[in-house]
Amino acid sequence: MIVKSAEFICSNTQVSKLPAPVMPEYAFIGRSNVGKSSLINMLVSKKGLAKTSQTPGKTQLINHFLINENWYLVDLPGYGYARISKSKKEDWDKFIRAYLDKRESLQCVMVLVDSRLEPQKIDLQFCNWLGEKGLSFVIIFTKADKQSAIKTDQNVAKFKKGLLATFEEMPPYFITSAENQTGRDEVLGFIDEINKG
Ligand code: GDP
Repeated sequence: MIVKSAEFICSNTQVSKLPAPVMPEYAFIGRSNVGKSSLINMLVSKKGLAKTSQTPGKTQLINHFLINENWYLVDLPGYGYARISKSKKEDWDKFIRAYLDKRESLQCVMVLVDSRLEPQKIDLQFCNWLGEKGLSFVIIFTKADKQSAIKTDQNVAKFKKGLLATFEEMPPYFITSAENQTGRDEVLGFIDEINKG
């Protein structure tokens, strides 16, 4: 897919105020600091589109970006930020789960996982919840430039093992780096295929 246009449409704190669900939509989510904003900017080749966060966990917004005037890229707030209060975490939970569970135009949840880390419980739990809800998802491993390919593969294998404790098969996954554009064509190609139906 060639990204010809990428336009910020709106930020929302309420599910009821989202844009009409008239275009296929792909939601990007992951732990705070996983590299989500960097990945989004890399995918659409627009540096400042998604704000790279200096203060993780601060904004609880659903951001809609219109790509090529025919699909929405949705930037969801990060989860698992240690320094936010319990009640804020619960608000996050309600808000995001309501969106994911109800959004009829949502095609796929793109779960970002830091390729440098051993499987994190919160990521596996989140995937399990998506599975319970019957939502399609893929895993996007981020920051692959930060260590050797062998190390990345080892962490991917461990994550797979973690998922296969509950899933029959591993969902599609991508190894990416916002730094050197690894995985860009693959992720965009995947979205393109779904959009073509
Ligand atoms: P977010 O909180 O998930 O949106 O994460 P950001 O995109 O703000 O990234 C968090 C930090 O990781 C920033 O300092 C980024 O520069 C860095 N980062 C993100 N992606 C990559 C990557 O692919 N490679 C490297 N080396 N650093 C990255």
